[in-house]
Amino acid sequence: MKTLKIDLYSDTITRPTAGMREYMAKAEVGDEQKREDPTTNRLVAMVAELLGKEDAVFLPSGTMCNQIAVRIHCRQGDEIIMDRLAHVRNSEAGGAAALSGAAINPIDGARGVFTTAQLLAAIRPPVYHSPPSRVVWIEQTANGAGGVIWPLENVQEICATAKANGMACHMDGARLLNAAVETGIPASEWAAPFDSLWIDFSKGLGAPVGAALAGSREFIKEAWRWKHQFGGAMRQSGIIAAGAVYALEHHVDRLAEDHANAKHLADGIGSVEGLEVEPAITNMVFINIASLGITAQDFNLRLMERGLRLSIFNATRLRAVTHLDVSAPQIEEAIEIIRDVAGSLPA
Ligand SMILES: *Cc1c(COP(=O)(O)O)cnc(C)c1O
Repeated sequence: MKTLKIDLYSDTITRPTAGMREYMAKAEVGDEQKREDPTTNRLVAMVAELLGKEDAVFLPSGTMCNQIAVRIHCRQGDEIIMDRLAHVRNSEAGGAAALSGAAINPIDGARGVFTTAQLLAAIRPPVYHSPPSRVVWIEQTANGAGGVIWPLENVQEICATAKANGMACHMDGARLLNAAVETGIPASEWAAPFDSLWIDFSKGLGAPVGAALAGSREFIKEAWRWKHQFGGAMRQSGIIAAGAVYALEHHVDRLAEDHANAKHLADGIGSVEGLEVEPAITNMVFINIASLGITAQDFNLRLMERGLRLSIFNATRLRAVTHLDVSAPQIEEAIEIIRDVAGSLPA
């Protein structure tokens, strides 16, 4: 493989900037498990304020945020209603079932987004032989669907319906800040109807590690119990929390650049023969190559020969994600490479 010049594999591949590394190196630290790490304490206060919740807890990963939320909201045999494409259903190694005995009742939404009518149809009747419908789960932005933003009114109506049916509401907000920046609607407004939600620092925000789960004081107290049990309680976590503080202070507004780059990429390759390009809404572009007559894997290998990498979703679908480590000129170059490679294939 040639060296990669442009890596659109995911926004997880970003490396800490020089400024972030310097800030991390200087972080004040203490024992996080004893709540004595000042930088982590500062981070969770920032997140609680940003999301308009009483409290928050720092965790090593978004996956652990999701799994702790499932553990708190569900008893064994309870059901969570979510879109079929949700990360927790497809990409967390079966954790909801394994760690909490929770079942998933999937809905076929439109690009990761379902309606109140679909939710109502999925909620179980309160009879003893049905698994109790316990949680409604929303992923913002919807990753597997292409970084799609749930409309705010839809979210509010779904949460109100869930509450009216005695259910809790959880948001997997791995990329909530992408939605907030793109829509101009503050993260706290998106967060308001949810009992629990989290944001990831290691995606578009560009920090090396970590995520934070937010909710009521009581919810976060309970989350600490599972943080210990799942092995997520840390010691001098200020070193990594500093990366997240730095990201919140410097890398939120710039997500708009990633979105502009994704739109530019989608426009630039939209007219390439043989490619079907889904509209870019935030920082992702999904590309269907079924009519090129080669597999997504083969197409990606050819791109990699030219120094560009995408990620593969299935035999004919690839994803490009824009992020802090790709510039606008590199997007121009990516467009050229994709156009050349698609054009070089026998029709
Ligand atoms: C990445 C991601 C997660 C998991 O986060 P990690 O920090 O990688 O554990 C969960 N949900 C969504 C939507 C994601 O994109």
